[in-house]
Amino acid sequence: MSEESDQGWQQLSEQILTDIKEWRRAHPKATFREIEHEVHRRLSRLEAQVIQDAVQESEQRDWSGAPAQERPSCPVCGTPLQARGKRTRCLQGAGGQEITLTRTYGTCPTCGTGLFPLDEELALPRGSTLTSLQHEHLVHLSSWMPFAQAAKMMERLLGVQVSEASTRRQSERAGALALAVQTAQAQMPVPEHLPASKPPKRLAISADGAYVPLLKGQWAEVRTVALGQVEHQTTSTGAQEVHVHQLSYFSRMCDAQTFASLAEVEMRRRGVSQAQEIGAVTDGADWLQGFLDLHCPQALRVLDFPHAAEHLNLLIQALHQAGLALPADLLERACHRLKHRGPHLLIWLLSRLPADLAQQEGVREQVGYFLKREALMQYPHYRKLGWPIGSGMVESANKVVVEARLKGAGMHWEPSHVNPHAHLTQCRLQ
Ligand SMILES: [Zn+2]
Repeated sequence: MSEESDQGWQQLSEQILTDIKEWRRAHPKATFREIEHEVHRRLSRLEAQVIQDAVQESEQRDWSGAPAQERPSCPVCGTPLQARGKRTRCLQGAGGQEITLTRTYGTCPTCGTGLFPLDEELALPRGSTLTSLQHEHLVHLSSWMPFAQAAKMMERLLGVQVSEASTRRQSERAGALALAVQTAQAQMPVPEHLPASKPPKRLAISADGAYVPLLKGQWAEVRTVALGQVEHQTTSTGAQEVHVHQLSYFSRMCDAQTFASLAEVEMRRRGVSQAQEIGAVTDGADWLQGFLDLHCPQALRVLDFPHAAEHLNLLIQALHQAGLALPADLLERACHRLKHRGPHLLIWLLSRLPADLAQQEGVREQVGYFLKREALMQYPHYRKLGWPIGSGMVESANKVVVEARLKGAGMHWEPSHVNPHAHLTQCRLQ
């Protein structure tokens, strides 16, 4: 640091400390909160000054008089930039304290690109009056709550002023940048030798779709896949319980095929191809089967038990409507039997239904549904092996990722803004 700023810092800190002492003497009965507030307010002035001076020490701050070979070069074509004068940029640091940067604007004589090399070197967020850390907080808060609330929280917690529109714009920009990085990673060739980090032992994978409201009364499906590690825990009564830990999510609003190829990054990150065992709990949707064929054909496939129970209910209703007298507790017993003894009896009964009954509207669909999914309903077997049989983990993912932030009351999204936000939310949860 230069001597000048050294002296300045010393003077300022002494003055602030003296001020605090004096204030305290004048307020002998101050509460903790009042003391905290006063100390914080005064120290944030010092913080802003120190950050400002430290930033100004950069070589890139004033390069206007430098010879060509010492000037920053154009990021597009590499030609040394030409200085076009200085501009100041005011930022809000902690407590809204102003931090001013003076830096030189440069243009490229070859391709015409114009930029502030200092801003690039410092990786300052573009189009923001916030410092980098404050900007990070803004983006994080926006992934939890509507923009207007995030803007209010910024003021309340950090003392910085930012409008709702600006909060929205900055978050969308940050989300779009992060999304672009992930998409680019998905398009890179798969490395032949994957890093030899410890392969996960047992992974559970599950997927689901949820609809989010777009502008003009439209809806679009956001697909989500959730991944987690399966572990067993013994309860206080000695029973074995299956738990899914370290959940992570991948969500996108796009067609099934694009989704499957973009999810590659997350599959790689979680070591899906190296996992010793994978269990996939699905609702039986076709797009999901294709997804599993691509990423983990070896996965043990399980029909989500609550979905199976729902179809049992539909089947019983249809049989009842066809005139069959059935005991009132049949659904409960059928569910219990399916869960503990498997689908054998159910399939046997369905394949022996009288032909006229089996052809009845409603009955036919449900019979078809179960006959097609016998292999996915071996619940006693899955339970013995310690796999979850319900897709609760991804359904809760849909609640936290998609519904909580994208489906709030009165929210309508521009289609191009859905993915940046889904991405920020999913990053926040990792
Ligand atoms: Zn250039």
